[in-house]
Amino acid sequence: MSERSGIPGEGLVKGLAVTLKTMTRRSTTQQYPDVAPELPPRSRGVIALLAENCTVCMLCARECPDWCIYIDSHKEEVAVPGAARPRQRNVLDKFDIDFSLCMYCGICVEVCPFDALYWSPEFEYAEYDIKDLLHDKDHLGEWMATVPPPPAHDRNGEPAKEEATAARKAAAPSSSAARPTVVRPEPGPAPDGGTPA
Ligand code: SF4
Ligand code: SF4
Repeated sequence: MSERSGIPGEGLVKGLAVTLKTMTRRSTTQQYPDVAPELPPRSRGVIALLAENCTVCMLCARECPDWCIYIDSHKEEVAVPGAARPRQRNVLDKFDIDFSLCMYCGICVEVCPFDALYWSPEFEYAEYDIKDLLHDKDHLGEWMATVPPPPAHDRNGEPAKEEATAARKAAAPSSSAARPTVVRPEPGPAPDGGTPA
């Protein structure tokens, strides 16, 4: 027969101690939906589209692991004064995201080279019909109003590359003055003891 360790009732006392400690601690339960939760500003709630920035490069749709971005476009000719031929540009016709498939990985937002996609912390868009979770271009555009402004730059952080380049250019003297001076060594005596060339 194995010997039991500890004082009888020790477990009960420990359990009651935990209960008492928890009872006196301040509750952190949030009374949603009566009280809106305080979410971090960069929370991944819904994806917003700034359609003017989209060049229909298709990078987001190609990288989306869930294949839940649907894009359609057509080409349009733009006459350029002085140019021999008109230019062509893509016009966005359709940009849908199916949030019933999206896994909120954020890859589309990260890969967009033209800052056309943003995270909004808005999350209250549950639907009774799953089909309504497909947000079209206009619906995605409406979410832009809920995108928080970008956080302020860290004063101790590195400046943005563009800012650093602009500051370097502004600080640099004119191109001729900026050319480095080549210092050549003084010619030494010729090996035959004559005058150096
Ligand atoms: S967050 Fe991820 S899964 Fe959702 S649309 Fe973007 S890439 Fe696709
Ligand atoms: S990656 Fe950006 S620019 Fe390219 S199609 Fe997607 S949203 Fe448009």
